[in-house]
Amino acid sequence: MIFGATGDLAKRKLFPSLYNLFKKEQLGRFAVIGVARRTLTNEEFQNNVKQSVNPDGAENSEIDEFASRFYYHSHDVTDSNSYAALNRLATEMDSHYGLKGNRIFYLAMAPEFFGTIAEHLKLDGLTETQGFKRLVIEKPFGHDLDSAKVLNNQIRTAFSEDEIYRIDHYLGKEMVQNIEVIRFANAIFEPLWNNRFISNIQVTSSEVLGVEERGRYYEKSGALRDMVQNHMLQMVALLAMEPPIRLTTDEVRSEKVRVFRALRPIKDSDVNQYFVRGQYGKGKIQDLEVPAYNQEEMVSPESNTETFVAGRLMIDNFRWAGVPFYIRTGKRMAAKSTKIVVQFKDIPMDLYNKQEGSVNPNLLVIHIQPEEGITLYFNAKRSGQSLNSTPVKLSYANKGIDGLNTPEAYEKLLYDCLRGDATNFTHWDEVALSWSFVDNISAVWENEKESFPNYESGTMGPKAADELLEKDGFFWWPVTDLDVETC
Ligand code: NAD
Repeated sequence: MIFGATGDLAKRKLFPSLYNLFKKEQLGRFAVIGVARRTLTNEEFQNNVKQSVNPDGAENSEIDEFASRFYYHSHDVTDSNSYAALNRLATEMDSHYGLKGNRIFYLAMAPEFFGTIAEHLKLDGLTETQGFKRLVIEKPFGHDLDSAKVLNNQIRTAFSEDEIYRIDHYLGKEMVQNIEVIRFANAIFEPLWNNRFISNIQVTSSEVLGVEERGRYYEKSGALRDMVQNHMLQMVALLAMEPPIRLTTDEVRSEKVRVFRALRPIKDSDVNQYFVRGQYGKGKIQDLEVPAYNQEEMVSPESNTETFVAGRLMIDNFRWAGVPFYIRTGKRMAAKSTKIVVQFKDIPMDLYNKQEGSVNPNLLVIHIQPEEGITLYFNAKRSGQSLNSTPVKLSYANKGIDGLNTPEAYEKLLYDCLRGDATNFTHWDEVALSWSFVDNISAVWENEKESFPNYESGTMGPKAADELLEKDGFFWWPVTDLDVETC
């Protein structure tokens, strides 16, 4: 059952992902009930589904077969009378398609409805089923620790922790999943993956787009809640975690939780020393003038909401003591890029270059999106007679090797959920710990007005974000210079 089946997420991500799984015969026996407020017939709904998977509308019997499994139930989720009818439809589908009572409830709706829907699913008997029941829940999971707790308590009345699949779509991305493999399947990296050999790690997730039409939501959220609490901290956890004993959901999640527990909390008085916030002003993106954030639709001209965050995180355990993890994320930046740069320590002395400091440190770059791959930078002899070194790189571009687009994150996550594998979803303990880390920072920022805007659209954020690293003797590796070459 998809709640919010006429929405943007369903149309752009869920239907196409389900169709890809259908084509690969990975859906098994299935039917989909779309739930939303609007009145639609099954046929109209099926046409929406077809449109989303096949926008040019060409005849395709496979798509017709796929879409024929979609049913529509018009239902205001706040109206308790409608759930009984939904349950009857679900029971009919069960027997018609032989689904053994297995039910997945996907909440692709505004978060204020999550708790109510979960409670009704239990109250009106939809969770009383012979098969499995699973709840997939979209972000944001609360807007701070307290609201996340309230929501969690509501959904826990109807589902146990192992039946809850909290989506963080970054965890479905091919190269995010690859972080663990790169680390734990290569003898050349894991022995170096600690504070003796790594000087710092930089995680950047930059967007070129502005807030678009999401002003109303974004004003209440900001980059800290929208990106740092979930995606950025999840990437840090995967980079920093200890090797799990085995790749089971519980083992992987508990290693991630240990990273969050080791994350050094930021004292109020240190927030502005270790975290930088920004808000975009007007500027140029690909020669086009774009407006400042505070001029966007549904945004207050006095807005104190950040569209950019950079921060320095410290993980206080034996492996990482002393190694800063720098994160930065923002809108209207110079490039669309999600990249991780692992900077190794300098060699003890440079034999090859007369000028001090001219040998480059080794870098391992993990390209998450838009291009996917890995680049290792090392030093080799400069051609010619001199014995100077020059940086060279080894690149692996994911798309080049596979020759195909990698599956969408949503496709992988839906498949995991169908199989009952919750490894790439966030456990409540991860959510709670990351909210408590972020809440410290937002509490300080909400009480202090920043002089926004403080970075021009089309740049890499405010100057203070560069100074954050300069204070430690580092600098942000420019994401655009590190692009992986497609093979
Ligand atoms: P949307 O506004 O496009 O769609 C909302 C859906 O909810 C519609 O189908 C609407 O009919 C339905 N709805 C609203 N009120 C209802 C009610 N009272 N009863 C029944 N149905 C009701 O939203 P969206 O962009 O699809 O986002 C859905 C969720 O997914 C949100 O939690 C959002 O944060 C999350 N999300 C969306 C995207 C995306 O790309 N759109 C990405 C990540 C997360």
